[in-house]
Amino acid sequence: MKNRASSHLLIIFIIIGLEIVGYLGVHRAAALRGYETSVIGGVRDLLMFIPLIILVLWLSRSKHFIGNWVLFTTAILLFSFGMPDVPVDTHVYRVGTRLGLFRPKASFEEAHDEMLRLVGDDADEAYEVHVGLIRHGRRTCTARNPDCDNCPLLSLCPYGKARQRAKLGTRN
Ligand code: SF4
Repeated sequence: MKNRASSHLLIIFIIIGLEIVGYLGVHRAAALRGYETSVIGGVRDLLMFIPLIILVLWLSRSKHFIGNWVLFTTAILLFSFGMPDVPVDTHVYRVGTRLGLFRPKASFEEAHDEMLRLVGDDADEAYEVHVGLIRHGRRTCTARNPDCDNCPLLSLCPYGKARQRAKLGTRN
């Protein structure tokens, strides 16, 4: 997928289309059984997409945003739709790079694809990995001064091990 606003708008419209088809299916199935579905509820759910569309248009047109649209879309897919996707923000990117989950200087898109490959199609795992890496990046593996001495991942972390070796080297 191209890292462009139009690609991500297209995904939002596809999701809206699928939602409409889903609602029509539920409505039909309910009607066959003599129930009535809530049209107001369906419309309300669809209207909730409008802020997302306005946000994309505002960011791309008014703010000339050229940042990470993949993060924007994957966050929607994971948090709003429970789909297995891993938004790669700066914390996930930094911790993942240090742990060697993707190659150094990989683009955000490449890092995202690699994270997606690692979590497979398990949405719960994708959520746990995303939230866990952010939490770890905020509390322990901070940008300027990672606390490798107290990090439970040190034995798995090439960057942390190199730092420890360098520290020992400067002490000797
Ligand atoms: S060992 Fe250090 S660099 Fe590696 S994940 Fe832990 S805090 Fe981050």
